[in-house]
Amino acid sequence: MATASRFRTLKDMPKEDYLTPGNTMCAGCGGILAFRIFHKVLGPNVAWVNAAGCMTITMSYPLSPLKSNWLYTAFASAPAGAQGLRDALDVLIAKGKLPASEDMKVVVVTGDGAAYDIGFQSTAGAIDRRLDFYYLCYDNEAYGNTGFQMSSSTPYGSASKTTPPTAAFPLGNTHRKKDLFDNWRSQGAAYVATLSNSHGVDFMKKVEKGESVGGPKLYIAFAACPTGWGYDPKDSVELEKLAVQTGVWPLKEAVDGVVRHTLVPRSLAPVSQYLRAQERFEHLFEPIERKEAIAAIQGSVNAYWKQAEAQEGFEVKVPEETSS
Ligand code: SF4
Repeated sequence: MATASRFRTLKDMPKEDYLTPGNTMCAGCGGILAFRIFHKVLGPNVAWVNAAGCMTITMSYPLSPLKSNWLYTAFASAPAGAQGLRDALDVLIAKGKLPASEDMKVVVVTGDGAAYDIGFQSTAGAIDRRLDFYYLCYDNEAYGNTGFQMSSSTPYGSASKTTPPTAAFPLGNTHRKKDLFDNWRSQGAAYVATLSNSHGVDFMKKVEKGESVGGPKLYIAFAACPTGWGYDPKDSVELEKLAVQTGVWPLKEAVDGVVRHTLVPRSLAPVSQYLRAQERFEHLFEPIERKEAIAAIQGSVNAYWKQAEAQEGFEVKVPEETSS
């Protein structure tokens, strides 16, 4: 029988913080907020394994705001670092040199550059070996710390440093965002979930659920990025909420490959509301409105939810595929 969650409202969020006030992340960064909540739920016994990204600079010795452990690895190899750490902890416990009560949760934390692109091979190996670890990807949909270059998480129609809108490519990026959730799920990961800072109880329950699941666990946290996306930093959580309300960022989980949406909006708001709020999509509206591109984005969101509807038996009202 499933045990009741200790998280029913936001007031149940643990008070203990594992980041000291002040750090070098940008104001309003959704990534560091997700990291902070994730750590609160996991508690103090955590060993983070990091590959290059915005957080790498923030956690650098001797100026780190982090109260727990941090292992920096090369860009492509964070899951290999996690394997070494997990093995070392297991050996120390087996030899009686570390009490089992002081065991640590091994957690890879990276941006989408490492999670979707550069670290993909090492990640596939760790999933295949059934390594018992967490993987937290703060997904800001580009290479944020080097100036917002396109990654394979960058959505269709987004401007980035390497996909600026030009006369030849007026839409900016024309690739579709890679489906990392389904990639891990199809490789047999034990648990896969999406998170949003705007839905804190859903967030905490999913991290809590991972505590009882052995094996590879992926969490993809939607990480609003005021610097790269172009909006007022105070609006980060509202923008993340809008991504959920428009269906752009579905909240879901997969346990042993079986997918369940943890929040089903009855009626989706038009994606144009979400796009208009960010400078990275400004060229879809100015100097002329790119109606076909906006309709194509709405169409792909609608198709996603219609497929989920058919698979899970819920009902979602979707907007028309025209720009508003
Ligand atoms: S560039 Fe974006 S993801 Fe990186 S620290 Fe700044 S707001 Fe956060």
